Amino acid sequence: MNAETNKMSLTTRVLLGMVLGIVTGFAIRFLFGEEGFVNEYIVNGLFDVGGQIFVASLKMLVVPLVFVSLVCGTSALKDIATLGRLGGKTLMFYLGTTALAITLAMSLALLFGPGKGADLSAASSFQASEAPSLGDVIVGMFPTNPISSMAEGNTLQIIIFALLFGIAISASGKPGERVAAFFRDLNEVILKLVALLMNLAPFGVFCLMAKLFTTLGLSAIVSLAEYFFVLAGGLVLHALVTYTTLLKVFSGLSPVTFLKKMEDAIMFAFSTASSNATIPVSMETTTRRMGADNKIASFTIPLGATINMDGTAMMQGVATVFIAQAFNVDLTMMDYMTVILTATLASIGTAGVPGVGLVMLAMVLNQVGLPLEGIALIMGVDRLLDMIRTAVNITGDCAVTCIVAKSEDALDEKRFNDMKAAEEDEKIVFRPHAQ
Ligand code: ASP
Repeated sequence: MNAETNKMSLTTRVLLGMVLGIVTGFAIRFLFGEEGFVNEYIVNGLFDVGGQIFVASLKMLVVPLVFVSLVCGTSALKDIATLGRLGGKTLMFYLGTTALAITLAMSLALLFGPGKGADLSAASSFQASEAPSLGDVIVGMFPTNPISSMAEGNTLQIIIFALLFGIAISASGKPGERVAAFFRDLNEVILKLVALLMNLAPFGVFCLMAKLFTTLGLSAIVSLAEYFFVLAGGLVLHALVTYTTLLKVFSGLSPVTFLKKMEDAIMFAFSTASSNATIPVSMETTTRRMGADNKIASFTIPLGATINMDGTAMMQGVATVFIAQAFNVDLTMMDYMTVILTATLASIGTAGVPGVGLVMLAMVLNQVGLPLEGIALIMGVDRLLDMIRTAVNITGDCAVTCIVAKSEDALDEKRFNDMKAAEEDEKIVFRPHAQ
């Protein structure tokens, strides 16, 4: 494959894949309904297989990328104090933005009252699964066997192991330097692999969208229109206003450039509905396109994809208010505070994979004594909202990465402002015996 032949930028190609996929999905549904040959072989055959391979190949990169780049990042840190400061700052921003997000979401929900007069007959049954306790989440961060953490793809455990491994490398003198050099080379190779697979994204995104829009139940949106639009509006507002304001205030960077450079990552997150699967693209975006140093992004991005879920917290906030209104339950001020706190914690405990936010909503509803059947009420429109909130989740990760990188003097502003940055990196040119 030679990128010279590709006149269009990757972003344009992915966007095209997405739009064509949506159009194809609607066309198939309109022309052939949801049964028959086309559905069986094209939608549930070709598109399904293509989409699944695409998501699988993104996920395939996550464990090696997170481990290798974080080892590189940590071994490049000067001392442990830097790591502590970095961790503290990152956590503060992640928690702060989540609390802001959910407050905004609940204010909008209270203002528009989407659940007043909602049709409860639509509710089907919902089986809530147990939400893990905070204690379990914290203990669960520490691996007993790093290989099995990697085999299971447990990001938090991988982060802890990679941090310790990186610290040991930087404390090991000459042997440590040799290992670090090896990891740096390995990191370059893995990033090339990311670029290679990103070049296949237009097809993957097309398949995902075509399949989804052939089967997506849009009629539910009509009956839950208010819930849908209040939440979707809130999500967009948070991405466009909160993050950009924070970016400007704390780092002085241009919000327009930031949003423009987020396009690829947003499209990946939207079509996969998984922050985790988007990690490779978020890493590429923040380091290669925005100029954040790998020692910051390798830590903040995987951590953010695992614990920073502003979009998810917003869904939980709006959903709680919606369900309370729909079931005619009056929530007190204390209840709202509880919702803010629990949704922040629940979003931390939400894995960055499709649909988990809805499961974790049970934890929030339990806290304020709302019926879990409420979840069944909103289940019908959750897929599309999941896609939007995942895009918000990863935008938050990338914004905080830029803010933290800038504050640590680890952001190359020239690269950030260069709209063509990393275009070269996206090209795949085979040079078998290059130096
Ligand atoms: N799909 C979301 C994510 O991966 C999590 C959720 O809200 O369900 O970020």
